[in-house]
Amino acid sequence: GNNSINAKLVLLGDMGAGKSSLVFRFVKGQFLEFQESTIGAAFFSQTLALNDATVKFEIWDTAGQERYHSLAPMYYRGAAAAIIVYDITSTESFERAKKWVQELQKQGNPNMVTALAGNKADLEDKRKVALEAKNCGAPVQEAHTYAEENGLFFKETSAKTATNVNEIFHEIAKRLPRA
Ligand code: GDP
Ligand code: MG
Repeated sequence: GNNSINAKLVLLGDMGAGKSSLVFRFVKGQFLEFQESTIGAAFFSQTLALNDATVKFEIWDTAGQERYHSLAPMYYRGAAAAIIVYDITSTESFERAKKWVQELQKQGNPNMVTALAGNKADLEDKRKVALEAKNCGAPVQEAHTYAEENGLFFKETSAKTATNVNEIFHEIAKRLPRA
């Protein structure tokens, strides 16, 4: 078929987790060591061609929702997809990501395709959030199981090295409902 899909995609997550950097990497193929803080929301569009469809993402890179939570619904309302971003070197950002997951489960569009991105995967030596459970210890910060239990598509990403950045957008595109 030759489906043409327009999809609003929103990025949510803690300030500094790398939302803007992921978008910049995906749209421009670049990384800025000193990414300027986003003011308000920035809008980007990027088209991906898949075998069965062309997906035009309308990407809302938000800021302010980190501090002013009441702004958030305005960003995710009507979104077909969301990427919830945390920083693997910050347990706080992982906790924050879980809050976003809960909020989208309660308030978001029930058909929303939701991805969880553990960003800054290049900073392995500073990792605080485990990828997989180790041994039999109580896995409090274990991203993979958490994502599975919550029906999220999950990848660790690096906007810096480009690891899994295109992949996460591609996977979302594949999962969007076809017309
Ligand atoms: P936002 O507030 O979520 O939009 O985060 P930014 O994209 O502004 O990134 C915050 C800081 O983290 C910036 O200094 C980025 O250069 C840095 N950063 C973002 N992504 C990565 C990454 O994948 N690896 C590393 N090492 N730094 C990153
Ligand atoms: Mg930003």
